[in-house]
Amino acid sequence: MKENIIKALKTIVGSDYVLTNKDQTASYLYDEVEEAYRPKANIDSIVIKPKNTQDVSQIMKLANENKIPVVIRGGATGLCGGCTPVEESFVLSMERMNGILEIDRKNMVAVLEAGVTLMDLLEELEKSNDLSFPVHPGDEGAQMGGMAVTNAGGARAVRHGVMRKHIMGVEAVLPNGEILELGGKLVKNNAGYNLMQLLLGSEGTLAVITKIVLKIYPKDFYSATIVAPFENFEDACQAVMDILKNGNLPLAVEYMDKHLFVGTAEMLGLEWQAKKGNADLLIILSEKNERQLYEACKEINEICEKNHSYETLYAGKAKEQQELLLIRSQHYEYIKETICDSFDMAVPVSEVPAFIKDLKMLVREYDTNTNVIAHIADGNVHNDILYLEDGTVPSYASELKQKMYDICFSYGGTITGEHGIGKIRTKDLTLQKSPVELELMQGIKKVFDPNNIMNPKTVLM
Ligand SMILES: Cc1cc2nc3c(=O)[nH]c(=O)nc-3n(C[C@H](O)[C@H](O)[C@H](O)COP(=O)(O)OP(=O)(O)OC[C@H]3O[C@@H](n4cnc5c(N)ncnc54)[C@H](O)[C@@H]3O)c2cc1C
Repeated sequence: MKENIIKALKTIVGSDYVLTNKDQTASYLYDEVEEAYRPKANIDSIVIKPKNTQDVSQIMKLANENKIPVVIRGGATGLCGGCTPVEESFVLSMERMNGILEIDRKNMVAVLEAGVTLMDLLEELEKSNDLSFPVHPGDEGAQMGGMAVTNAGGARAVRHGVMRKHIMGVEAVLPNGEILELGGKLVKNNAGYNLMQLLLGSEGTLAVITKIVLKIYPKDFYSATIVAPFENFEDACQAVMDILKNGNLPLAVEYMDKHLFVGTAEMLGLEWQAKKGNADLLIILSEKNERQLYEACKEINEICEKNHSYETLYAGKAKEQQELLLIRSQHYEYIKETICDSFDMAVPVSEVPAFIKDLKMLVREYDTNTNVIAHIADGNVHNDILYLEDGTVPSYASELKQKMYDICFSYGGTITGEHGIGKIRTKDLTLQKSPVELELMQGIKKVFDPNNIMNPKTVLM
């Protein structure tokens, strides 16, 4: 990076907040994608830490004038290489823009700088003891800006939907440095094209999000977790559909292959209590009062029984529930050494049983296996390709991936339900989208970012 550019950056944010030394920048290059399939970072990239929107605006102007790529780094919890700079870039780390600007109880919104982490927000809401925010993508280090532009989902999407449902307004800085205010505290707003919604899910390729107006909610005080073991996966899936059809909206309905529940529990020094059956559901309920919780548990139990579940296990105490959740959330630690690629496909809920059955049959043709973990009530299925026993990536990996996608498409599915395209699925996107749709996306990108400086090689090739 040229000296005059570094000097200009230091004038904008102060010399302490421009990192050029490779020992310092090394920890700002990657996200949570496994080493085997993550994009390779350009190590000559430099890190800049803006303090406010004006800083961001000036940095973007400088980058645009000099056609320098800019990659925004949020909490780096992403799972598709979105915040990895693959060209010599400005890496804009949002960590200093972490102000909780307002908790507006009258309108039930929070106004937050983009670098506020989910953990920061939850801690702030906890202080008032009666407020909550539901979207939980599994890692509380994720920042509001990152969650917004990846349109994060997570286990609770079954009841609360994904991030775009909860964002009412954003402040954003365009690649040329212009500052935009989109949306706000309005509940209804139909004026013109909805540019805010276009930025949500744009993975840092159109603009930098600097502020967010986020809906917040009254807290539920009563919760319970049910483990429902089934002999057959098909019965478990039918129970999920019946639960939803019945109008029950659990906070989360999660599925993992039985060996993952058992093995992860063992790894954590715990024991998976559901001994019978081959297909267990973890159903988390959360209600305003005890009576509603009791009713919901009763109805869900009945539905599971009707679908041939073994006796369901009920956890009501906070500690028991936390243990179950821990087992669900730590499965990745249990398998991560054995997987060389992982997926985030989604299909219509009714197609989940056939989809998973086909995936399992397909991997058998290659004499291998695949772990299935699913936000099952959303039809969002995570599975993987395993390393060979000698620790190498199998030669059939890309062929197998293509076949998995083909199955997904045959059920009307998508290659990513929640993690996004990032840099690892740009080629795959062309398998799913028509040329016309891709052309429209490219056109939109050009309007926002004519010099292609915003996170190049992300979403679109
Ligand atoms: C254990 C684990 C479990 C997870 N489970 C889920 C899950 O269930 N559901 C789910 O949806 N996700 C899940 N994730 C993925 C991840 O948490 C989300 O993608 C998260 O929303 C990313 O936020 P971040 O701040 O970490 O963004 P980063 O990883 O830093 O960046 C992600 C993308 O957003 C861009 N970006 C970041 N901040 C901004 C900004 N202010 N303005 C413009 N662009 C920006 C980056 O350039 C990049 O393209 C999980 C991750 C982990 C590690």
